[in-house]
Amino acid sequence: MDINKLQRENIRNLRPYSTARDEYKGQASIFLDANENSYGSPRSPRSPETALTKDYNRYPDPLQLDLKEAISKIKGVPIENTFLGNGSDEAIDLLFRAFCEPGQDNVVILPPTYGMYEVSAGINNVAIRKVNLLPSFQLDLDGIAEAIDEHTKLIFICSPNNPTGNSIVRTDIETVLANFNGLVVIDEAYINYAKQRTFIKELTEYPNLVVLQTFSKAWGLAALRLGMAFASRPVIDVLNKVKPPYNINQATQDIALDALKNIEQVNEWIKVTVAERESLGNALAALPMVKKVYPSDANFILIEVDDALNTYNSLVEHGIIIRDRSKVTLCEGCLRITIGTVEENKILLETLKTL
Ligand SMILES: *Cc1c(COP(=O)(O)O)cnc(C)c1O
Repeated sequence: MDINKLQRENIRNLRPYSTARDEYKGQASIFLDANENSYGSPRSPRSPETALTKDYNRYPDPLQLDLKEAISKIKGVPIENTFLGNGSDEAIDLLFRAFCEPGQDNVVILPPTYGMYEVSAGINNVAIRKVNLLPSFQLDLDGIAEAIDEHTKLIFICSPNNPTGNSIVRTDIETVLANFNGLVVIDEAYINYAKQRTFIKELTEYPNLVVLQTFSKAWGLAALRLGMAFASRPVIDVLNKVKPPYNINQATQDIALDALKNIEQVNEWIKVTVAERESLGNALAALPMVKKVYPSDANFILIEVDDALNTYNSLVEHGIIIRDRSKVTLCEGCLRITIGTVEENKILLETLKTL
Protein backbone atom coordinates (compact mmCIF):
# COMPACT_ATOMS: atom_id res chain seq x y z
CA MET A 1 0.00 0.00 0.00
CA ASP A 2 1.38 3.38 -1.03
CA ILE A 3 -0.04 6.08 1.23
CA ASN A 4 0.93 8.77 -1.25
CA LYS A 5 -1.24 7.20 -3.90
CA LEU A 6 -4.02 6.32 -1.47
CA GLN A 7 -4.66 9.87 -0.26
CA ARG A 8 -6.55 12.37 -2.36
CA GLU A 9 -4.46 14.46 -4.69
CA ASN A 10 -5.54 17.76 -3.10
CA ILE A 11 -4.54 16.41 0.33
CA ARG A 12 -1.18 15.23 -0.97
CA ASN A 13 -0.58 18.77 -2.25
CA LEU A 14 -2.01 20.52 0.81
CA ARG A 15 0.19 22.76 2.90
CA PRO A 16 -1.34 22.40 6.38
CA TYR A 17 -2.23 25.37 8.58
CA SER A 18 0.69 26.45 10.67
CA THR A 19 -0.25 27.56 14.17
CA ALA A 20 1.56 30.24 16.10
CA ARG A 21 2.99 27.56 18.40
CA ASP A 22 4.13 25.48 15.40
CA GLU A 23 6.33 28.35 14.36
CA TYR A 24 7.83 28.97 17.80
CA LYS A 25 8.75 25.87 19.82
CA GLY A 26 11.26 27.06 22.46
CA GLN A 27 10.81 28.25 26.05
CA ALA A 28 9.32 31.72 26.47
CA SER A 29 7.38 33.58 29.15
CA ILE A 30 5.59 36.22 27.11
CA PHE A 31 3.29 34.95 24.36
CA LEU A 32 2.10 37.69 22.04
CA ASP A 33 1.85 35.53 18.93
CA ALA A 34 -1.66 34.08 18.82
CA ASN A 35 -3.98 37.01 19.56
CA GLU A 36 -5.20 35.41 22.76
CA ASN A 37 -6.52 37.35 25.75
CA SER A 38 -3.41 37.57 27.95
CA TYR A 39 -5.37 38.32 31.13
CA GLY A 40 -7.12 35.02 31.75
CA SER A 41 -10.62 33.54 31.60
CA PRO A 42 -13.71 34.91 33.35
CA ARG A 43 -15.31 33.08 36.29
CA SER A 44 -18.92 33.21 37.35
CA PRO A 45 -19.01 36.05 39.88
CA ARG A 46 -21.45 34.11 42.08
CA SER A 47 -19.52 30.85 42.28
CA PRO A 48 -15.91 31.48 41.30
CA GLU A 49 -14.87 28.07 42.62
CA THR A 50 -17.06 26.05 40.25
CA ALA A 51 -16.55 25.05 36.63
CA LEU A 52 -13.37 26.88 35.61
CA THR A 53 -10.58 25.87 37.96
CA LYS A 54 -7.90 27.33 35.73
CA ASP A 55 -7.50 29.74 32.84
CA TYR A 56 -8.29 28.67 29.30
CA ASN A 57 -7.15 31.80 27.54
CA ARG A 58 -4.33 30.04 25.65
CA TYR A 59 -4.80 27.79 22.64
CA PRO A 60 -4.31 24.09 23.46
CA ASP A 61 -1.48 21.86 22.21
CA PRO A 62 -2.54 20.96 18.63
CA LEU A 63 -0.91 17.51 18.90
CA GLN A 64 -2.01 16.81 22.52
CA LEU A 65 1.41 15.37 23.41
CA ASP A 66 0.88 15.09 27.19
CA LEU A 67 -2.42 13.28 26.74
CA LYS A 68 -0.99 11.01 24.04
CA GLU A 69 1.96 10.20 26.33
CA ALA A 70 -0.47 9.03 29.03
CA ILE A 71 -2.53 7.03 26.52
CA SER A 72 0.64 5.49 25.13
CA LYS A 73 1.59 4.21 28.60
CA ILE A 74 -1.74 2.38 28.87
CA LYS A 75 -2.09 1.16 25.28
CA GLY A 76 1.54 0.45 24.50
CA VAL A 77 1.25 2.28 21.17
CA PRO A 78 3.86 4.95 20.35
CA ILE A 79 2.69 8.57 20.21
CA GLU A 80 3.51 8.85 16.49
CA ASN A 81 1.02 6.06 15.81
CA THR A 82 -1.75 7.80 17.75
CA PHE A 83 -4.31 10.33 16.55
CA LEU A 84 -6.91 11.98 18.79
CA GLY A 85 -10.21 13.20 17.43
CA ASN A 86 -13.28 15.05 18.65
CA GLY A 87 -14.90 11.64 19.15
CA SER A 88 -14.15 8.66 16.91
CA ASP A 89 -16.69 10.31 14.65
CA GLU A 90 -14.12 12.97 13.75
CA ALA A 91 -11.54 10.31 12.88
CA ILE A 92 -14.12 8.57 10.67
CA ASP A 93 -14.93 11.84 8.89
CA LEU A 94 -11.25 12.70 8.42
CA LEU A 95 -10.56 9.27 6.88
CA PHE A 96 -13.19 10.07 4.26
CA ARG A 97 -11.92 13.57 3.67
CA ALA A 98 -8.28 12.53 3.38
CA PHE A 99 -8.59 9.34 1.36
CA CYS A 100 -11.86 9.33 -0.61
CA GLU A 101 -12.30 11.46 -3.72
CA PRO A 102 -15.96 12.62 -3.69
CA GLY A 103 -18.01 11.27 -6.57
CA GLN A 104 -15.27 8.83 -7.53
CA ASP A 105 -14.04 6.62 -4.69
CA ASN A 106 -16.08 4.16 -2.62
CA VAL A 107 -15.92 2.41 0.74
CA VAL A 108 -17.18 -0.98 1.91
CA ILE A 109 -19.37 -1.28 4.98
CA LEU A 110 -20.79 -4.46 6.51
CA PRO A 111 -24.42 -4.09 7.69
CA PRO A 112 -25.89 -4.35 10.20
CA THR A 113 -23.33 -1.97 11.67
CA TYR A 114 -22.66 1.45 13.18
CA GLY A 115 -24.64 4.14 11.35
CA MET A 116 -21.95 6.85 11.22
CA TYR A 117 -19.93 5.19 8.43
CA GLU A 118 -22.81 5.62 6.01
CA VAL A 119 -23.67 9.12 7.23
CA SER A 120 -20.06 10.24 6.95
CA ALA A 121 -19.86 8.75 3.45
CA GLY A 122 -23.02 10.64 2.50
CA ILE A 123 -21.71 13.95 3.85
CA ASN A 124 -18.53 13.48 1.85
CA ASN A 125 -20.34 12.32 -1.30
CA VAL A 126 -18.52 8.99 -1.26
CA ALA A 127 -20.33 5.88 -2.53
CA ILE A 128 -20.83 2.98 -0.14
CA ARG A 129 -20.89 -0.68 -1.07
CA LYS A 130 -22.79 -2.78 1.41
CA VAL A 131 -21.80 -6.38 2.02
CA ASN A 132 -24.18 -7.76 4.62
CA LEU A 133 -22.79 -9.85 7.42
CA LEU A 134 -23.68 -13.55 7.25
CA PRO A 135 -26.62 -14.73 9.39
CA SER A 136 -23.94 -15.63 11.98
CA PHE A 137 -23.05 -11.87 11.97
CA GLN A 138 -19.60 -12.81 10.66
CA LEU A 139 -17.80 -11.54 7.54
CA ASP A 140 -18.88 -12.60 4.05
CA LEU A 141 -15.31 -12.76 2.75
CA ASP A 142 -16.31 -13.68 -0.81
CA GLY A 143 -18.84 -10.86 -0.90
CA ILE A 144 -16.22 -8.38 0.34
CA ALA A 145 -13.72 -9.55 -2.30
CA GLU A 146 -16.35 -9.06 -5.00
CA ALA A 147 -17.36 -5.60 -3.78
CA ILE A 148 -13.85 -4.15 -3.89
CA ASP A 149 -12.52 -2.37 -6.96
CA GLU A 150 -9.65 0.04 -7.66
CA HIS A 151 -11.70 2.93 -6.23
CA THR A 152 -12.34 1.24 -2.88
CA LYS A 153 -10.34 3.17 -0.28
CA LEU A 154 -11.73 2.06 3.09
CA ILE A 155 -13.37 -1.01 4.62
CA PHE A 156 -15.07 -0.53 7.99
CA ILE A 157 -15.12 -3.54 10.31
CA CYS A 158 -16.80 -2.94 13.66
CA SER A 159 -15.66 -5.46 16.26
CA PRO A 160 -17.36 -6.01 18.64
CA ASN A 161 -20.07 -4.99 16.21
CA ASN A 162 -22.82 -2.49 16.98
CA PRO A 163 -25.75 -3.39 17.08
CA THR A 164 -25.19 -7.16 17.06
CA GLY A 165 -22.68 -7.24 19.93
CA ASN A 166 -20.47 -10.05 18.62
CA SER A 167 -16.75 -9.89 17.89
CA ILE A 168 -15.69 -10.58 14.32
CA VAL A 169 -13.57 -13.72 13.87
CA ARG A 170 -9.96 -12.60 14.09
CA THR A 171 -8.61 -14.69 11.22
CA ASP A 172 -11.30 -13.25 8.91
CA ILE A 173 -10.17 -9.71 9.77
CA GLU A 174 -6.58 -10.79 9.11
CA THR A 175 -7.64 -12.11 5.70
CA VAL A 176 -9.10 -8.72 4.78
CA LEU A 177 -6.02 -6.91 6.11
CA ALA A 178 -3.69 -9.11 4.09
CA ASN A 179 -5.64 -8.84 0.82
CA PHE A 180 -6.99 -5.29 0.63
CA ASN A 181 -4.86 -2.46 -0.74
CA GLY A 182 -6.77 0.34 0.98
CA LEU A 183 -7.24 1.05 4.69
CA VAL A 184 -8.98 -1.48 6.92
CA VAL A 185 -10.66 0.48 9.72
CA ILE A 186 -11.39 -1.71 12.75
CA ASP A 187 -13.77 0.10 15.07
CA GLU A 188 -13.05 -1.18 18.59
CA ALA A 189 -15.38 1.14 20.49
CA TYR A 190 -16.44 -1.80 22.68
CA ILE A 191 -13.12 -3.67 22.90
CA ASN A 192 -12.87 -3.16 26.68
CA TYR A 193 -15.83 -5.49 27.16
CA ALA A 194 -14.62 -8.15 24.71
CA LYS A 195 -12.91 -11.48 25.13
CA GLN A 196 -11.27 -10.86 21.74
CA ARG A 197 -7.87 -9.17 21.73
CA THR A 198 -7.41 -5.68 20.33
CA PHE A 199 -5.69 -5.21 16.96
CA ILE A 200 -3.50 -2.31 18.19
CA LYS A 201 -0.65 -4.77 18.73
CA GLU A 202 -0.68 -5.58 14.98
CA LEU A 203 0.07 -2.05 13.73
CA THR A 204 3.65 -2.94 12.83
CA GLU A 205 2.37 -5.93 10.87
CA TYR A 206 -0.17 -4.08 8.70
CA PRO A 207 0.55 -0.62 7.24
CA ASN A 208 -3.10 -0.46 6.09
CA LEU A 209 -4.58 -1.01 9.56
CA VAL A 210 -6.48 1.74 11.38
CA VAL A 211 -7.89 0.92 14.83
CA LEU A 212 -10.52 3.21 16.32
CA GLN A 213 -11.12 3.34 20.05
CA THR A 214 -13.00 5.85 22.16
CA PHE A 215 -13.36 7.41 25.59
CA SER A 216 -17.15 7.40 25.11
CA LYS A 217 -17.95 3.88 26.32
CA ALA A 218 -15.91 2.05 28.98
CA TRP A 219 -14.08 5.24 29.98
CA GLY A 220 -17.35 7.00 30.80
CA LEU A 221 -16.48 10.27 29.04
CA ALA A 222 -18.96 10.40 26.14
CA ALA A 223 -19.75 14.07 26.75
CA LEU A 224 -16.12 15.11 26.34
CA ARG A 225 -15.98 13.87 22.73
CA LEU A 226 -12.61 12.14 22.60
CA GLY A 227 -11.73 9.33 20.23
CA MET A 228 -8.50 7.58 19.29
CA ALA A 229 -7.19 6.30 15.97
CA PHE A 230 -4.10 4.08 15.92
CA ALA A 231 -2.31 3.48 12.62
CA SER A 232 1.03 3.43 10.83
CA ARG A 233 2.99 6.68 10.85
CA PRO A 234 2.11 7.75 7.27
CA VAL A 235 -1.63 7.40 7.95
CA ILE A 236 -1.38 9.34 11.23
CA ASP A 237 0.61 12.07 9.47
CA VAL A 238 -2.15 12.47 6.88
CA LEU A 239 -4.85 12.69 9.59
CA ASN A 240 -2.83 15.31 11.47
CA LYS A 241 -2.42 17.31 8.29
CA VAL A 242 -6.16 17.36 7.59
CA LYS A 243 -7.56 17.84 11.11
CA PRO A 244 -8.63 21.24 12.42
CA PRO A 245 -5.55 22.60 14.24
CA TYR A 246 -7.07 22.66 17.75
CA ASN A 247 -9.50 19.76 17.44
CA ILE A 248 -9.17 18.63 21.07
CA ASN A 249 -9.94 21.45 23.47
CA GLN A 250 -7.87 22.09 26.61
CA ALA A 251 -10.65 21.17 29.06
CA THR A 252 -11.00 17.78 27.36
CA GLN A 253 -7.24 17.23 27.45
CA ASP A 254 -7.13 18.13 31.17
CA ILE A 255 -10.08 15.99 32.17
CA ALA A 256 -8.99 12.97 30.11
CA LEU A 257 -5.46 13.19 31.51
CA ASP A 258 -6.94 13.12 35.00
CA ALA A 259 -9.28 10.24 34.19
CA LEU A 260 -6.42 8.13 32.83
CA LYS A 261 -4.94 8.11 36.34
CA ASN A 262 -7.90 6.06 37.54
CA ILE A 263 -7.90 3.05 35.26
CA GLU A 264 -8.76 0.93 38.33
CA GLN A 265 -12.22 2.50 38.43
CA VAL A 266 -12.72 1.82 34.72
CA ASN A 267 -11.63 -1.80 35.09
CA GLU A 268 -14.01 -2.21 38.03
CA TRP A 269 -16.93 -0.89 35.92
CA ILE A 270 -15.96 -3.20 33.07
CA LYS A 271 -16.03 -6.17 35.46
CA VAL A 272 -19.47 -5.26 36.80
CA THR A 273 -20.81 -4.58 33.31
CA VAL A 274 -19.59 -7.92 31.97
CA ALA A 275 -21.09 -9.74 34.98
CA GLU A 276 -24.38 -7.88 34.50
CA ARG A 277 -24.33 -8.69 30.79
CA GLU A 278 -24.22 -12.36 31.72
CA SER A 279 -26.97 -12.25 34.33
CA LEU A 280 -29.22 -9.88 32.40
CA GLY A 281 -28.81 -12.05 29.30
CA ASN A 282 -29.82 -15.14 31.22
CA ALA A 283 -32.80 -13.41 32.83
CA LEU A 284 -33.96 -12.02 29.47
CA ALA A 285 -33.70 -15.46 27.87
CA ALA A 286 -36.10 -16.79 30.50
CA LEU A 287 -38.85 -14.29 29.57
CA PRO A 288 -41.64 -15.73 27.39
CA MET A 289 -41.60 -12.71 25.05
CA VAL A 290 -37.89 -13.15 24.27
CA LYS A 291 -37.20 -15.42 21.31
CA LYS A 292 -33.44 -15.05 21.25
CA VAL A 293 -30.62 -13.42 23.19
CA TYR A 294 -27.59 -12.91 20.97
CA PRO A 295 -24.19 -13.46 22.61
CA SER A 296 -22.47 -10.14 23.31
CA ASP A 297 -18.87 -9.02 23.63
CA ALA A 298 -19.99 -5.42 24.24
CA ASN A 299 -21.85 -3.40 26.89
CA PHE A 300 -25.22 -4.05 25.28
CA ILE A 301 -27.33 -7.04 24.32
CA LEU A 302 -29.32 -7.63 21.16
CA ILE A 303 -32.51 -9.61 21.72
CA GLU A 304 -35.24 -10.80 19.41
CA VAL A 305 -38.76 -10.48 20.82
CA ASP A 306 -42.31 -11.32 19.73
CA ASP A 307 -43.31 -7.71 19.09
CA ALA A 308 -40.36 -5.31 19.12
CA LEU A 309 -42.22 -2.04 18.53
CA ASN A 310 -44.83 -2.86 21.15
CA THR A 311 -42.19 -3.81 23.74
CA TYR A 312 -40.21 -0.69 22.94
CA ASN A 313 -43.27 1.57 23.31
CA SER A 314 -44.37 -0.08 26.55
CA LEU A 315 -40.94 0.46 28.07
CA VAL A 316 -41.02 4.11 26.99
CA GLU A 317 -44.30 4.47 28.90
CA HIS A 318 -42.43 3.26 31.98
CA GLY A 319 -39.67 5.79 31.40
CA ILE A 320 -37.17 3.23 30.10
CA ILE A 321 -35.54 3.90 26.74
CA ILE A 322 -33.87 1.12 24.76
CA ARG A 323 -33.05 1.02 21.05
CA ASP A 324 -35.52 -0.40 18.54
CA ARG A 325 -33.39 -2.09 15.86
CA SER A 326 -36.24 -4.08 14.32
CA LYS A 327 -36.05 -2.24 10.99
CA VAL A 328 -32.33 -2.89 10.60
CA THR A 329 -30.96 -5.46 8.11
CA LEU A 330 -30.71 -8.95 9.71
CA CYS A 331 -32.15 -7.58 12.96
CA GLU A 332 -35.88 -8.06 12.30
CA GLY A 333 -37.76 -8.10 15.59
CA CYS A 334 -34.69 -7.04 17.54
CA LEU A 335 -34.11 -4.61 20.39
CA ARG A 336 -30.74 -3.38 21.63
CA ILE A 337 -30.39 -2.93 25.35
CA THR A 338 -27.45 -1.15 26.97
CA ILE A 339 -26.24 -2.79 30.20
CA GLY A 340 -27.17 -0.31 32.91
CA THR A 341 -26.33 -0.20 36.60
CA VAL A 342 -27.33 -3.24 38.68
CA GLU A 343 -30.36 -1.27 39.89
CA GLU A 344 -31.37 -0.14 36.39
CA ASN A 345 -31.12 -3.66 35.02
CA LYS A 346 -33.32 -4.94 37.86
CA ILE A 347 -35.99 -2.33 37.11
CA LEU A 348 -35.84 -3.15 33.40
CA LEU A 349 -36.40 -6.85 34.09
CA GLU A 350 -39.23 -6.25 36.55
CA THR A 351 -40.90 -3.92 34.06
CA LEU A 352 -40.56 -6.41 31.19
CA LYS A 353 -42.20 -9.08 33.37
CA THR A 354 -45.29 -6.90 33.82
CA LEU A 355 -45.80 -6.32 30.06
C1 LIG B 1 -20.38 4.54 20.35
C2 LIG B 1 -19.56 4.17 19.19
C3 LIG B 1 -18.47 4.95 18.80
C4 LIG B 1 -18.06 6.14 19.60
O1 LIG B 1 -18.02 7.29 18.87
P1 LIG B 1 -17.49 8.62 19.57
O2 LIG B 1 -17.58 9.62 18.47
O3 LIG B 1 -16.07 8.34 19.99
O4 LIG B 1 -18.36 8.91 20.73
C5 LIG B 1 -17.72 4.55 17.72
N1 LIG B 1 -18.03 3.43 17.04
C6 LIG B 1 -19.07 2.67 17.40
C7 LIG B 1 -19.35 1.43 16.65
C8 LIG B 1 -19.88 3.02 18.46
O5 LIG B 1 -20.93 2.26 18.78
